[in-house]
Order: sequence, then structure tokens, then C-alpha cells
Amino acid sequence: MKAIKVKCPQCKRLTSWENNPYRPFCCERCKLIDLGHWADGSYSLPAQDEAPSKEEGYHDDEI
Ligand SMILES: [Zn+2]
Repeated sequence: MKAIKVKCPQCKRLTSWENNPYRPFCCERCKLIDLGHWADGSYSLPAQDEAPSKEEGYHDDEI
């Protein structure tokens, strides 16, 4: 009898599919990390588009 193995989406380790309450993750930790990633709003970070347009450190020293 061959055990089915799946790759954990979180840590990319091979883990068994059967008898695994956390599948497709390898452990509770990986599952929580993934869920938290989507649930706690960490995707709503402000975009870093507004870079200050000062030309600091740039000198046009033509003589
Ligand atoms: Zn994992």
C-alpha cells in the first residue's frame, strides 16, 4: 500500500495526504500561516507608487 504524498503549498515539503487533518498543508502551522495571510488584510498594504520626485544627489555640473 502506497501512501499518497502532496506538496504543502506553504513550505513546499512533501506530506502525506491521508490521515492528515491539515491537508493540503503538512501541519497546523502551515495552514494557519496560509489562512492568516488571506484573512488578516495583509494584502491591503498601501501601494508604493508615490515616490518623492526630488532629484536628490543629482547635480548637473557642467562647466
Ligand atoms: Zn508545510
